[in-house]
Amino acid sequence: MSANGSPELLIVMGASATVDEVGHVVERLEEAGVRARVSHGREATVIGAIGDRELLATLPLEGYPGVEQVLPILKPYKLVSREVAPDPTVIDVNGRLIGDSAFGLIAGPCTVEYREQTLETARAVAAAGATMLRGGAFKPRTSPYTFQGLGVEALDVLREAREETGLPIVTELMDPRHVEDVVEAADVIQIGARNMQNFLLLAEVGRSEKPVLLKRATSASVEELLMAAEYVAKEGNDRIILCERGIRTFERSTRYTLDLGSVAVLKHETHLPVIVDPSHAAGRRDLVLPLARAAVAVGADGIIVESHPRPEEALCDGPQQIPTGEFGNFAAEVGALVGLMGKTIG
Ligand code: PEP
Ligand code: MN
Repeated sequence: MSANGSPELLIVMGASATVDEVGHVVERLEEAGVRARVSHGREATVIGAIGDRELLATLPLEGYPGVEQVLPILKPYKLVSREVAPDPTVIDVNGRLIGDSAFGLIAGPCTVEYREQTLETARAVAAAGATMLRGGAFKPRTSPYTFQGLGVEALDVLREAREETGLPIVTELMDPRHVEDVVEAADVIQIGARNMQNFLLLAEVGRSEKPVLLKRATSASVEELLMAAEYVAKEGNDRIILCERGIRTFERSTRYTLDLGSVAVLKHETHLPVIVDPSHAAGRRDLVLPLARAAVAVGADGIIVESHPRPEEALCDGPQQIPTGEFGNFAAEVGALVGLMGKTIG
Protein backbone atom coordinates (compact mmCIF):
# COMPACT_ATOMS: atom_id res chain seq x y z
CA MET A 1 0.00 0.00 0.00
CA SER A 2 1.31 3.48 -0.77
CA ALA A 3 1.69 5.07 2.63
CA ASN A 4 -1.48 7.17 2.41
CA GLY A 5 -3.60 5.79 -0.42
CA SER A 6 -2.98 8.89 -2.53
CA PRO A 7 -3.73 9.00 -6.25
CA GLU A 8 -0.77 7.58 -8.05
CA LEU A 9 -1.55 7.34 -11.70
CA LEU A 10 -3.20 9.27 -14.45
CA ILE A 11 -4.77 7.15 -17.14
CA VAL A 12 -5.11 9.25 -20.29
CA MET A 13 -7.73 7.92 -22.67
CA GLY A 14 -7.26 8.35 -26.42
CA ALA A 15 -9.24 11.06 -28.21
CA SER A 16 -11.44 8.40 -29.81
CA ALA A 17 -12.02 6.35 -26.65
CA THR A 18 -15.67 5.45 -26.20
CA VAL A 19 -17.83 5.89 -23.12
CA ASP A 20 -17.79 2.09 -22.73
CA GLU A 21 -14.00 1.99 -22.82
CA VAL A 22 -13.79 4.65 -20.10
CA GLY A 23 -16.40 2.74 -18.12
CA HIS A 24 -14.43 -0.48 -18.52
CA VAL A 25 -11.26 1.07 -17.05
CA VAL A 26 -13.21 2.53 -14.13
CA GLU A 27 -14.87 -0.84 -13.48
CA ARG A 28 -11.54 -2.71 -13.48
CA LEU A 29 -10.05 -0.14 -11.09
CA GLU A 30 -13.00 -0.33 -8.73
CA GLU A 31 -13.03 -4.12 -8.79
CA ALA A 32 -9.40 -3.97 -7.70
CA GLY A 33 -10.33 -1.66 -4.82
CA VAL A 34 -8.90 1.48 -6.42
CA ARG A 35 -10.84 4.76 -6.46
CA ALA A 36 -11.22 6.33 -9.90
CA ARG A 37 -11.77 10.02 -10.58
CA VAL A 38 -12.89 10.63 -14.14
CA SER A 39 -12.38 14.01 -15.69
CA HIS A 40 -13.76 14.76 -19.12
CA GLY A 41 -11.35 17.36 -20.44
CA ARG A 42 -11.66 19.39 -23.59
CA GLU A 43 -8.91 17.35 -25.23
CA ALA A 44 -8.98 14.03 -23.47
CA THR A 45 -10.66 12.04 -20.76
CA VAL A 46 -8.32 11.50 -17.85
CA ILE A 47 -8.82 9.00 -15.04
CA GLY A 48 -7.01 9.56 -11.76
CA ALA A 49 -6.40 6.22 -10.04
CA ILE A 50 -6.38 6.71 -6.30
CA GLY A 51 -5.07 3.91 -4.15
CA ASP A 52 -2.43 1.34 -3.59
CA ARG A 53 0.58 1.87 -5.86
CA GLU A 54 1.65 -1.77 -5.71
CA LEU A 55 -1.82 -2.99 -6.51
CA LEU A 56 -2.02 -0.59 -9.44
CA ALA A 57 1.21 -2.00 -10.79
CA THR A 58 -0.47 -5.40 -11.11
CA LEU A 59 -3.20 -4.09 -13.43
CA PRO A 60 -2.44 -4.20 -17.18
CA LEU A 61 -3.80 -0.67 -17.60
CA GLU A 62 -1.85 0.13 -20.75
CA GLY A 63 -3.48 -2.83 -22.49
CA TYR A 64 -7.09 -1.80 -21.83
CA PRO A 65 -8.96 -0.65 -24.95
CA GLY A 66 -8.95 3.13 -25.41
CA VAL A 67 -6.05 3.78 -23.03
CA GLU A 68 -3.39 5.99 -24.58
CA GLN A 69 -0.96 6.59 -21.73
CA VAL A 70 -0.43 5.81 -18.07
CA LEU A 71 1.51 8.49 -16.20
CA PRO A 72 2.60 8.80 -12.59
CA ILE A 73 1.31 11.86 -10.71
CA LEU A 74 4.43 13.68 -9.60
CA LYS A 75 2.98 16.62 -7.66
CA PRO A 76 2.58 16.24 -3.88
CA TYR A 77 -1.02 17.43 -4.21
CA LYS A 78 -3.05 15.05 -6.27
CA LEU A 79 -6.83 15.43 -6.11
CA VAL A 80 -6.70 19.22 -6.31
CA SER A 81 -4.12 19.23 -9.09
CA ARG A 82 -4.86 20.26 -12.64
CA GLU A 83 -3.10 17.10 -13.75
CA VAL A 84 -5.95 15.01 -12.35
CA ALA A 85 -8.73 17.34 -13.54
CA PRO A 86 -7.61 19.59 -16.40
CA ASP A 87 -10.89 21.52 -16.63
CA PRO A 88 -11.83 24.18 -14.10
CA THR A 89 -14.18 23.12 -11.32
CA VAL A 90 -17.39 25.10 -11.12
CA ILE A 91 -19.03 25.05 -7.70
CA ASP A 92 -22.78 25.47 -7.44
CA VAL A 93 -23.86 27.00 -4.15
CA ASN A 94 -27.67 27.01 -4.08
CA GLY A 95 -27.68 27.93 -7.77
CA ARG A 96 -24.96 30.59 -7.47
CA LEU A 97 -21.92 29.51 -9.48
CA ILE A 98 -18.25 30.12 -8.90
CA GLY A 99 -15.43 29.02 -11.20
CA ASP A 100 -14.55 29.13 -14.92
CA SER A 101 -16.66 31.94 -16.41
CA ALA A 102 -18.74 32.47 -13.25
CA PHE A 103 -17.32 35.16 -10.95
CA GLY A 104 -18.35 35.07 -7.29
CA LEU A 105 -19.00 38.36 -5.50
CA ILE A 106 -19.10 37.49 -1.80
CA ALA A 107 -19.81 40.41 0.48
CA GLY A 108 -21.05 41.19 3.95
CA PRO A 109 -19.94 42.32 7.36
CA CYS A 110 -16.72 41.16 8.95
CA THR A 111 -18.78 40.02 11.91
CA VAL A 112 -22.43 39.50 12.75
CA GLU A 113 -22.78 42.13 15.48
CA TYR A 114 -26.55 42.36 15.78
CA ARG A 115 -29.58 41.45 13.68
CA GLU A 116 -30.30 44.81 12.01
CA GLN A 117 -26.64 45.46 11.13
CA THR A 118 -26.42 42.13 9.32
CA LEU A 119 -29.83 42.36 7.63
CA GLU A 120 -29.15 45.90 6.46
CA THR A 121 -25.83 44.80 4.97
CA ALA A 122 -27.37 41.71 3.39
CA ARG A 123 -30.05 43.81 1.68
CA ALA A 124 -27.52 46.31 0.38
CA VAL A 125 -25.09 43.77 -1.04
CA ALA A 126 -27.93 41.70 -2.53
CA ALA A 127 -29.31 44.79 -4.26
CA ALA A 128 -25.83 45.50 -5.64
CA GLY A 129 -25.62 42.04 -7.19
CA ALA A 130 -23.55 40.11 -4.64
CA THR A 131 -23.81 36.35 -5.10
CA MET A 132 -23.21 35.29 -1.49
CA LEU A 133 -23.30 36.83 1.98
CA ARG A 134 -20.30 36.61 4.30
CA GLY A 135 -20.44 37.19 8.05
CA GLY A 136 -18.50 35.82 10.98
CA ALA A 137 -20.28 34.16 13.89
CA PHE A 138 -17.10 32.80 15.47
CA LYS A 139 -14.23 35.26 15.10
CA PRO A 140 -10.52 34.49 15.25
CA ARG A 141 -9.32 37.66 17.00
CA THR A 142 -5.69 38.49 17.70
CA SER A 143 -6.57 39.78 21.16
CA PRO A 144 -8.63 37.67 23.58
CA TYR A 145 -10.05 40.95 24.99
CA THR A 146 -11.83 41.99 21.78
CA PHE A 147 -15.29 40.90 20.55
CA GLN A 148 -15.16 37.18 19.74
CA GLY A 149 -18.40 36.98 17.77
CA LEU A 150 -21.95 36.14 18.81
CA GLY A 151 -21.46 32.43 18.18
CA VAL A 152 -24.51 30.27 17.49
CA GLU A 153 -26.84 33.23 17.97
CA ALA A 154 -25.24 34.79 14.88
CA LEU A 155 -26.04 31.69 12.84
CA ASP A 156 -29.76 32.39 13.32
CA VAL A 157 -29.27 35.95 12.09
CA LEU A 158 -27.46 34.64 9.02
CA ARG A 159 -30.28 32.17 8.37
CA GLU A 160 -32.76 35.01 8.50
CA ALA A 161 -30.62 37.07 6.09
CA ARG A 162 -30.55 34.13 3.66
CA GLU A 163 -34.29 33.71 3.91
CA GLU A 164 -34.90 37.35 3.15
CA THR A 165 -32.33 37.91 0.39
CA GLY A 166 -31.86 34.41 -1.03
CA LEU A 167 -28.08 34.82 -0.71
CA PRO A 168 -26.14 31.71 0.33
CA ILE A 169 -24.21 32.13 3.59
CA VAL A 170 -20.42 31.96 3.98
CA THR A 171 -19.32 31.74 7.61
CA GLU A 172 -16.23 30.58 9.45
CA LEU A 173 -15.79 27.37 11.42
CA MET A 174 -13.03 27.55 14.02
CA ASP A 175 -13.63 24.65 16.35
CA PRO A 176 -14.47 21.00 15.55
CA ARG A 177 -17.00 21.20 18.41
CA HIS A 178 -19.08 23.62 16.30
CA VAL A 179 -19.03 21.52 13.14
CA GLU A 180 -22.64 20.44 13.42
CA ASP A 181 -24.01 23.94 14.06
CA VAL A 182 -21.93 25.67 11.40
CA VAL A 183 -22.34 22.99 8.73
CA GLU A 184 -26.08 23.04 9.28
CA ALA A 185 -26.38 26.83 8.98
CA ALA A 186 -23.74 27.64 6.37
CA ASP A 187 -23.91 27.17 2.62
CA VAL A 188 -20.12 27.54 2.41
CA ILE A 189 -17.88 26.76 5.38
CA GLN A 190 -14.99 29.18 5.73
CA ILE A 191 -11.69 27.96 7.14
CA GLY A 192 -9.81 31.08 8.10
CA ALA A 193 -6.15 31.92 7.60
CA ARG A 194 -5.32 30.98 11.19
CA ASN A 195 -6.73 27.49 10.77
CA MET A 196 -5.38 26.67 7.31
CA GLN A 197 -3.19 23.94 8.76
CA ASN A 198 -5.59 22.76 11.45
CA PHE A 199 -5.60 19.32 9.90
CA LEU A 200 -8.32 17.86 12.11
CA LEU A 201 -10.63 20.72 11.18
CA LEU A 202 -9.79 20.24 7.50
CA ALA A 203 -10.67 16.55 7.74
CA GLU A 204 -13.98 17.43 9.46
CA VAL A 205 -15.07 19.74 6.64
CA GLY A 206 -13.75 17.22 4.14
CA ARG A 207 -16.41 14.83 5.46
CA SER A 208 -19.19 17.41 5.18
CA GLU A 209 -21.48 17.98 2.23
CA LYS A 210 -20.96 21.73 2.12
CA PRO A 211 -18.44 23.59 -0.06
CA VAL A 212 -15.38 24.92 1.76
CA LEU A 213 -13.73 28.34 1.44
CA LEU A 214 -10.11 27.81 2.44
CA LYS A 215 -8.08 30.93 3.16
CA ARG A 216 -4.31 31.03 2.79
CA ALA A 217 -2.44 31.37 6.07
CA THR A 218 -0.40 34.56 6.38
CA SER A 219 2.86 32.65 6.25
CA ALA A 220 1.92 29.66 4.11
CA SER A 221 3.42 28.92 0.72
CA VAL A 222 1.20 28.22 -2.27
CA GLU A 223 2.18 24.56 -2.01
CA GLU A 224 1.15 24.45 1.65
CA LEU A 225 -2.23 25.95 0.71
CA LEU A 226 -2.71 23.26 -1.94
CA MET A 227 -1.70 20.54 0.52
CA ALA A 228 -4.27 21.90 3.00
CA ALA A 229 -6.90 21.68 0.25
CA GLU A 230 -5.74 18.11 -0.40
CA TYR A 231 -6.62 17.24 3.22
CA VAL A 232 -10.19 18.33 2.53
CA ALA A 233 -10.42 16.60 -0.86
CA LYS A 234 -8.95 13.37 0.50
CA GLU A 235 -11.99 12.97 2.76
CA GLY A 236 -14.27 13.12 -0.27
CA ASN A 237 -15.20 16.80 -0.46
CA ASP A 238 -13.70 18.41 -3.55
CA ARG A 239 -15.95 21.47 -3.55
CA ILE A 240 -13.19 23.78 -2.35
CA ILE A 241 -12.68 27.49 -3.06
CA LEU A 242 -9.16 28.78 -2.37
CA CYS A 243 -8.63 32.32 -1.16
CA GLU A 244 -5.59 34.60 -1.31
CA ARG A 245 -5.97 37.15 1.50
CA GLY A 246 -2.50 38.64 1.82
CA ILE A 247 0.66 37.36 3.43
CA ARG A 248 3.05 38.70 6.05
CA THR A 249 6.06 40.50 4.60
CA PHE A 250 8.35 43.34 5.72
CA GLU A 251 5.98 45.81 4.06
CA ARG A 252 3.72 47.67 6.50
CA SER A 253 1.94 50.15 4.21
CA THR A 254 -0.85 47.63 3.70
CA ARG A 255 -2.15 45.34 6.45
CA TYR A 256 -0.84 42.30 4.56
CA THR A 257 0.87 42.00 1.18
CA LEU A 258 -1.66 40.80 -1.38
CA ASP A 259 0.17 38.10 -3.32
CA LEU A 260 -1.54 38.31 -6.68
CA GLY A 261 1.21 36.20 -8.21
CA SER A 262 -0.10 33.33 -6.12
CA VAL A 263 -3.46 33.60 -7.88
CA ALA A 264 -1.80 33.20 -11.28
CA VAL A 265 0.21 30.23 -9.98
CA LEU A 266 -2.83 28.63 -8.34
CA LYS A 267 -4.88 28.96 -11.52
CA HIS A 268 -2.11 27.06 -13.25
CA GLU A 269 -1.70 24.36 -10.61
CA THR A 270 -5.25 23.57 -9.57
CA HIS A 271 -8.69 23.14 -11.11
CA LEU A 272 -10.30 24.65 -8.01
CA PRO A 273 -11.75 28.17 -8.06
CA VAL A 274 -9.43 30.82 -6.57
CA ILE A 275 -10.76 34.02 -5.05
CA VAL A 276 -9.17 37.09 -3.47
CA ASP A 277 -9.94 38.94 -0.23
CA PRO A 278 -8.82 42.53 -0.86
CA SER A 279 -10.35 43.75 2.44
CA HIS A 280 -8.09 41.92 4.88
CA ALA A 281 -5.06 42.44 2.62
CA ALA A 282 -5.58 46.20 2.37
CA GLY A 283 -6.77 46.95 5.89
CA ARG A 284 -8.13 50.27 4.60
CA ARG A 285 -11.16 50.86 2.47
CA ASP A 286 -9.63 53.19 -0.12
CA LEU A 287 -7.42 50.35 -1.38
CA VAL A 288 -10.13 47.71 -1.58
CA LEU A 289 -11.40 48.71 -5.05
CA PRO A 290 -7.97 48.91 -6.75
CA LEU A 291 -6.96 45.55 -5.25
CA ALA A 292 -10.31 44.04 -6.24
CA ARG A 293 -9.77 45.26 -9.80
CA ALA A 294 -6.29 43.73 -9.83
CA ALA A 295 -7.76 40.45 -8.59
CA VAL A 296 -10.24 40.37 -11.47
CA ALA A 297 -7.50 41.18 -13.97
CA VAL A 298 -5.15 38.44 -12.73
CA GLY A 299 -7.87 35.86 -13.30
CA ALA A 300 -9.44 35.35 -9.88
CA ASP A 301 -12.78 33.54 -9.84
CA GLY A 302 -14.25 35.91 -7.31
CA ILE A 303 -13.67 38.28 -4.43
CA ILE A 304 -14.79 38.34 -0.81
CA VAL A 305 -15.28 41.84 0.55
CA GLU A 306 -16.34 43.36 3.86
CA SER A 307 -19.14 45.90 4.11
CA HIS A 308 -20.93 47.53 7.06
CA PRO A 309 -23.76 50.07 7.31
CA ARG A 310 -21.70 52.23 9.70
CA PRO A 311 -18.04 51.14 9.56
CA GLU A 312 -17.06 53.72 12.20
CA GLU A 313 -19.16 51.73 14.69
CA ALA A 314 -17.95 48.28 13.60
CA LEU A 315 -16.74 45.96 16.35
CA CYS A 316 -14.11 44.48 14.06
CA ASP A 317 -12.18 45.66 10.97
CA GLY A 318 -13.99 49.02 10.67
CA PRO A 319 -11.27 50.79 8.65
CA GLN A 320 -11.47 48.30 5.78
CA GLN A 321 -15.24 47.81 5.56
CA ILE A 322 -17.01 49.51 2.65
CA PRO A 323 -20.06 51.48 3.80
CA THR A 324 -23.18 49.75 2.48
CA GLY A 325 -24.18 53.08 0.89
CA GLU A 326 -21.10 52.86 -1.34
CA PHE A 327 -21.33 49.16 -2.09
CA GLY A 328 -23.48 49.54 -5.22
CA ASN A 329 -20.84 51.73 -6.81
CA PHE A 330 -18.06 49.35 -5.77
CA ALA A 331 -19.90 46.36 -7.27
CA ALA A 332 -20.56 48.23 -10.53
CA GLU A 333 -16.86 49.12 -10.90
CA VAL A 334 -15.82 45.51 -10.27
CA GLY A 335 -18.61 44.20 -12.52
CA ALA A 336 -17.40 46.24 -15.49
CA LEU A 337 -14.00 44.60 -15.31
CA VAL A 338 -15.49 41.13 -14.78
CA GLY A 339 -17.34 41.62 -18.09
CA LEU A 340 -14.12 42.65 -19.84
CA MET A 341 -12.56 39.37 -18.69
CA GLY A 342 -15.37 37.49 -20.45
CA LYS A 343 -16.96 36.43 -17.19
CA THR A 344 -20.27 37.09 -15.53
CA ILE A 345 -21.06 37.57 -11.87
CA GLY A 346 -22.53 34.17 -11.11
C1 PEP B 1 -12.46 36.73 7.84
O1 PEP B 1 -12.60 36.58 6.62
O2 PEP B 1 -13.39 37.02 8.58
C2 PEP B 1 -11.12 36.56 8.43
C3 PEP B 1 -10.95 36.55 9.73
O3 PEP B 1 -10.15 36.46 7.50
P1 PEP B 1 -8.71 35.74 7.63
O4 PEP B 1 -8.94 34.36 8.17
O5 PEP B 1 -8.22 35.77 6.23
O6 PEP B 1 -7.89 36.60 8.56
MN1 MN C 1 -12.64 40.97 9.06
